[in-house]
Amino acid sequence: ASYARIGETEPAIKAFITLDEENARRQAAELDKQLKEGGERGLLFGLPAGVKDNIVTEGLLTTCASQFLGNYDPIYDATAVRKLKAAQSVTIGKLNMDEFAMGGSNENSSYYPTRNPWNTDYVPGGSSGGSAASVAAGQVYFSLGSDTGGSIRQPAAYCGIVGLKPTYGLVSRFGLVAFASSLDQIGPLTKNVEDSAYVLQAIAGYDERDSTSANVEIPDYVSALTGDVKGLRIGVPKEYLGEGIDPRVKEAVLKALAVYESLGASWEEISLPHTEYAIATYYLLASSEASSNLARFDGVRYGVRADNPSGLIDLYRKSRSQGFGPEVKRRIMLGTYALSSGYYDAYYLKAQKVRTLIKQDFDQAFGKYDLIIGPTAPTPAFRIGEQVGDPLTMYLNDICTIPVSLAGVPAISVPCGSADGLPIGLQIIGKAFDEPTVLRAAHAFE
Ligand code: GLN
Repeated sequence: ASYARIGETEPAIKAFITLDEENARRQAAELDKQLKEGGERGLLFGLPAGVKDNIVTEGLLTTCASQFLGNYDPIYDATAVRKLKAAQSVTIGKLNMDEFAMGGSNENSSYYPTRNPWNTDYVPGGSSGGSAASVAAGQVYFSLGSDTGGSIRQPAAYCGIVGLKPTYGLVSRFGLVAFASSLDQIGPLTKNVEDSAYVLQAIAGYDERDSTSANVEIPDYVSALTGDVKGLRIGVPKEYLGEGIDPRVKEAVLKALAVYESLGASWEEISLPHTEYAIATYYLLASSEASSNLARFDGVRYGVRADNPSGLIDLYRKSRSQGFGPEVKRRIMLGTYALSSGYYDAYYLKAQKVRTLIKQDFDQAFGKYDLIIGPTAPTPAFRIGEQVGDPLTMYLNDICTIPVSLAGVPAISVPCGSADGLPIGLQIIGKAFDEPTVLRAAHAFE
């Protein structure tokens, strides 16, 4: 059924980079056989899943939507993928994205842009745009994405589905091709909140192969969905509903808050005063980490090697010049500059200090409130091509998601309305490792 749906919708949506029907059928047949032999059904038994193409999959190409990794065939599974297999879901294929997860529209894919299933003239968001579009179009039941500064939540909002960025460290990053290691998290994109809880249950947990993996007990996320939000205290940052926010988005968020009130929760306006520095801080830190992480792509160890180099340095230069797209090069240059001696103190170190202040804004708010709620993105999806020549405008789309990433706390995007037929997302942010409350509040609203 999944492949039939892909056959109907994929020519217009282009959510996938790699599809391998034979491999998927083999997995399904194996599950069938185990069941017939009396085996137990796993938590995600038989559910067709898509995986973002920066999460490594044994025997399935993992390109990061880059020409550099066009031929990269991993010899192992990421921990999250291994856990999906253990829960008995079936991997359908690998999903399109912005190259190395750098972007917010899928237009930075070096293959082709994915299109928004609600209106194919519009972007699906990004960088997990293929992951969001595929679920929204009914091609797969759920998908995995990655979120560094909003890449799960923003495409979920643009495509009218549910996207969860877990607390930093809750889901193993082993096998996730690193963009900015202090921010990257894998999480589920699903049709509803209950599915999100199930997939999180399957993928969360300590992994000794990720040095920043949190060694915490994993609660039962599904049983947290009680429908009861009575007495919950919600803070609504004024910075998330001010300048630059589309009035239709603001209206949808205020309506959602009224729903919470009617369910017995209360809300108040609060301030996260360092929000205005979040984008500058993020683009310094994420680019610095990226410049270091992407140094491993040298034309020798992974992926495509340039032809006819005149020597070793020329091999590096040619492979990197040919392999990386323009946005990736921009980030590497920005990050290398921010880390270089003489500038390190003024940029990288300063940004680290501001990150601490941003995190303290959240700590303070969570002293008084159980949840922070606002929009996921300032506007609904924009037209393909509309912001391509303007990276700074593109960067501003992340104003509501980036502070959350810098603070490392969990957040979910759930649909809360639409404008001109394009979905709007509500962002529900929680305390570190308090996914149960985040999921419970999202579920009660949906
Ligand atoms: N859009 C942001 C960026 O371009 C976030 C990307 C992400 O979360 N991977 O960096």
